[in-house]
Amino acid sequence: MSDWKNFTREPKIAYFSMEIGLSNDIPTYSGGLGVLAGDTIKTAADLKVPMVAVTLVCRKGYFLQTIDAEGWQQEYPREWKPETFMELLPGKTLVTIEGRDVKVQSWLYRVKSPTGGQVPVLFLDTDIPGNDDSDRRITDELYGGDQGYRLKQEIVLGIGGARLLDTLGFSIRKYHMNEGHASLLTLELLTRARRPVEDTWDERASWDTRRVTEQCVFTTHTPVEAGHDRFPYDLVQRIMGEVIPLPLLKELAGKEILNTTMLAMNLSRFVNGVAKKHGEVSKVLFPGFEIHAITNGIHPFTWASPYFVNLFNQYLPSWAKEPELLVRVDLIPDEEIWDAHCGAKAYLFQYIEETTGVRLDPELLTVGFARRSATYKRGDLIFSDIDRLLEIGEGKLQLVFGGKAHPRDRAGKEVIHRIIDQVKRLRGRIDCVYLENYNMDVASRLIPGVDLWLNNPLRPLEASGTSGMKAALNGVPNFSVLDGWWIEGHIEGVTGWGIGPAPTDNSVDANHSAEDVFDLYHKLEKTILPLFYQDRPGWIRIMKNAIGKNAYYFNTHVMMRRYVTEAYMH
Ligand SMILES: *Cc1c(COP(=O)(O)O)cnc(C)c1O
Repeated sequence: MSDWKNFTREPKIAYFSMEIGLSNDIPTYSGGLGVLAGDTIKTAADLKVPMVAVTLVCRKGYFLQTIDAEGWQQEYPREWKPETFMELLPGKTLVTIEGRDVKVQSWLYRVKSPTGGQVPVLFLDTDIPGNDDSDRRITDELYGGDQGYRLKQEIVLGIGGARLLDTLGFSIRKYHMNEGHASLLTLELLTRARRPVEDTWDERASWDTRRVTEQCVFTTHTPVEAGHDRFPYDLVQRIMGEVIPLPLLKELAGKEILNTTMLAMNLSRFVNGVAKKHGEVSKVLFPGFEIHAITNGIHPFTWASPYFVNLFNQYLPSWAKEPELLVRVDLIPDEEIWDAHCGAKAYLFQYIEETTGVRLDPELLTVGFARRSATYKRGDLIFSDIDRLLEIGEGKLQLVFGGKAHPRDRAGKEVIHRIIDQVKRLRGRIDCVYLENYNMDVASRLIPGVDLWLNNPLRPLEASGTSGMKAALNGVPNFSVLDGWWIEGHIEGVTGWGIGPAPTDNSVDANHSAEDVFDLYHKLEKTILPLFYQDRPGWIRIMKNAIGKNAYYFNTHVMMRRYVTEAYMH
């Protein structure tokens, strides 16, 4: 007898996200957005925030990546079985797609915290007998298919998700849309909030947008154009039909085309960017909206390597529940910080040897770079001038890379190809490796195991970035372009190092590549390499500052306390 009904006793914050990365076994995430969602849910469980999360089951998962002999990414399906980890809930609901009724059911996964807190996560599923064959495939792929397929997924996520919560007996006090993918849920809420008006000619007045706005919180995650879904209204009409009258939909979601970000912004009382800078940039992109900024974080216990978990447990007990305690990192002796780091480094190097056959030298400064291979992240920037790189780093530097490109992102795959080309050319002079199939497991070995974490996006396109926070938590200093969270975390030569000019510009097409490349090489040569090799106590000071001045603050516990007090409680 399942006790899942207990979850419906208390009104909840409903957290909607197209992707959620809770663990490697549940491959329903593609990158930072999904991992953030997973970390947020784990923190809600730790802090006993009454939350229920909603996402799609994505039975085909996000793909497995290998790299072929020519350096091109190959993709394989990553099928998984929800029944291995989850329980099928009895309730079903219906959504209308292309005029057909489509049944939606959900799988319950429980995120349990050692504090006793639990957050239910509902994985929506349309693979149900009786549904049209094509409809059974709607919840198969993450970011797959064409625009029509994506719209169907968003109908299931937003409208289906809101209806299913209702069917299951959840009472919801706030709906938090993590990115615009879930924004169609506002249409369901609008329908529910409809009120009778005395003047029956006034159709518009019967739609109580204010009541919906009060229930909704929206976080926008990227200034990158492709990150904001847009659907032509003829497609919307054909697939979704008329959930609310078209003129009203156009008023809320954009005149020419349905912009999901616009819809969410117009119907949320609290709109949030994911770092201070991203809040400012979003105000330029969406003039007229009030946009707050609660900076992203990472779930501390998930992202601390076992070596640092031991150390923190010993010197800063209950840090995992209260990561603010990391501010007292100076209680930990330098040698123990260094030993923990060497443990994490050896653990990574063992993995590298097993998977690539390359044996890296644990004595050399090892730089890591791994994340989704989107072009704005400029994964191959460090190879801009090979002669210069060799002059600086030959015999002194090693590089570890990883990351998947979206299957339809040709340019992202070319970046991987170029990196692998350089990996081959530099062999024996600067040893580099590209680790296949970057995912949460690889990340949790890679990031703590390098000495320096590199990030060089085209500013201001890195809305927040979170991998650098994972590095800081494990005493790995950041060496990064001043964008996203790093603008807030960076103190030059104290917590790590910046790359390129100060972040004054808020336009999305600022390009400082030449300055960035110059500075990257210059600081490596003049500051970072000398410090690493000639002043180990100075280096350890920076490692400790990464923990005590970055990780104590840039975590999802701090982030969640802010969401609760600034967004959910109002
Ligand atoms: C943390 C994480 C990311 C996010 O990396 P960014 O550098 O912030 O883009 C992406 N993928 C995986 C698997 C991660 O764990």
